[in-house]
Amino acid sequence: MLYIGPHVSISGSVSLAPGRAHDLGATGFGMFTKNQRVWSAPKLEDSTAESFQEALAASGIPNDAILPHAGYLINPATPDSELRDKSLALFMDEAERTVRLGLSVLNIHPGAYKEGLREDGMRRSARMLDQVLSAFPSLRIAIENTAGAGTILGSSFEELDGIISGSACKDRIGITLDTAHLFGAGYDVRNDIQGIMDSFFSRFGREKLYGMHLNDSKVPLSSRKDRHESLGKGLIGLEPFMEIVRMDEVQGLPLVLETPDESAWAEEIRTLLKA
Ligand SMILES: [Zn+2]
Ligand SMILES: [Zn+2]
Repeated sequence: MLYIGPHVSISGSVSLAPGRAHDLGATGFGMFTKNQRVWSAPKLEDSTAESFQEALAASGIPNDAILPHAGYLINPATPDSELRDKSLALFMDEAERTVRLGLSVLNIHPGAYKEGLREDGMRRSARMLDQVLSAFPSLRIAIENTAGAGTILGSSFEELDGIISGSACKDRIGITLDTAHLFGAGYDVRNDIQGIMDSFFSRFGREKLYGMHLNDSKVPLSSRKDRHESLGKGLIGLEPFMEIVRMDEVQGLPLVLETPDESAWAEEIRTLLKA
């Protein structure tokens, strides 16, 4: 089963997300658990969590076809103690929202180490993941690969492996592969998507892939930049996405479009579902 859909808005209420995805013909989707621009949001009411689950049941989309994305304010690798406390509090809050919505995996960026040693940043990132996973025994966390600008961690398989290896809860940490970030980081998904996926699976195993973000890229290979484009409209082209959705290993995993043109989403979903 292919679980494909866009990162939908939660504007108005998180409980509107399943309907928005369903209306586009999606079989899965991504979303934030709260307004991603603010450090604190109103508490998730029980009634809202229930409405979300009712809307989800009505949409026919299964829980494991959804990959919520933690907000960008959270920096698990920060060396600044004040920012670390705020990041941890927000990460805990988003983890709790994820669990209360009936979802099991939360996607997060591994963070930026800002200064000092890269390895220290990787350790800080792993430690924060462990704190959250210890508090929520049913939760799993997907670390998203990045394009690797500046001191941002997680742009290579080696580094993602290093972060996971530093965790005490590594059984509940996996990876989300974002194709635009792979391309920005120097993985040529345009010409060798099969080889890149094979090298991922031989290093980590199939069970470590928790989902994918299917995005074309506005910026070139190895640019270290993160600028998404609609599928087939960017420098990656449509064919690698068609190859991905034909792979046995991605069946049953959430494949989320974070493409910029919302008016293209329904067509992107149709195209991939027919591949
Ligand atoms: Zn992301
Ligand atoms: Zn992404």
